[in-house]
Amino acid sequence: MATSFEETAIVLRVVPYEDRHRIVTALSEKRGKITAIANNAVNSRRYGAALQPFAASGWRMAERAGANLYRLDEAILKRGYEGIRKHFEILTLASLLNDILLRIAPENEACLELFKLHSNTLALLEDWANEAETLDPIRYFQVLNGYFSKILQWNGTQPQLMRCLSCERSLLDFSENEELRASIITAGWVCSHCRHYRIDTPDQEVLAIHQKYISITQAALGDFYLALTHPIRKSFEVFSPNLSDQHKLFQFLLSLLQYHVPGFEKAPLQTLRFIPEFKDWIQTEPEQSPNRPNL
Ligand SMILES: [Zn+2]
Repeated sequence: MATSFEETAIVLRVVPYEDRHRIVTALSEKRGKITAIANNAVNSRRYGAALQPFAASGWRMAERAGANLYRLDEAILKRGYEGIRKHFEILTLASLLNDILLRIAPENEACLELFKLHSNTLALLEDWANEAETLDPIRYFQVLNGYFSKILQWNGTQPQLMRCLSCERSLLDFSENEELRASIITAGWVCSHCRHYRIDTPDQEVLAIHQKYISITQAALGDFYLALTHPIRKSFEVFSPNLSDQHKLFQFLLSLLQYHVPGFEKAPLQTLRFIPEFKDWIQTEPEQSPNRPNL
């Protein structure tokens, strides 16, 4: 006996199944990542645009005891985020965010924070696509930095951004261009007077990662703080307009995600290579950041 229920869901991925069906993976409001089969969805108007990637819809589904897949009976489109497709670059960014959620979102477990983050980010991207004739490349990094910061927050990682980990001087005591050293393990930083700061751990592997600081500016760390304390939709307004700061924060956030967030991988980022501003950045990126050790 199947139990029927309703959910709001954003499509992350659609794949064909046999000749006529589709399998849809989505981020839902109450159950996290879910996968459903839409029977006879190919060449059918029943679902309209509701099964396109990014589409947010009200789904009516049936759950059968012992089955991994839900059965999708009806999907009524609420917002298609169609505007995202106006610019190849914005579509690429949105696709990357879908790919990341496919890897990190918990399955059949509520993650409302991620759901809100994703829908707000799609709305930001769509508004941007609708307004802009030409795209300002710094915004690619601003969106990703805002999104990545919030994923760390959702994950429970607690960045320590307001003070030097060693001498506790305030971030606000330094000028915007001050070079500081960001630490992956602690998600914090030390000032130039505290270069020899060490964490107290007997674990050599952890210690080795801790020694690999990333050079970062005061302004970039300030943006990290702003990202954690502001809604993603404010990203373009509140972040530093300096591309170099955005690059530095991007590099730090990628290392933090790899180390702290289970399931996060850099592989999906390869899709960004089709955007010129990322092509060089991704290819010239130095050695792989350390992965979480098996503790
Ligand atoms: Zn210090």
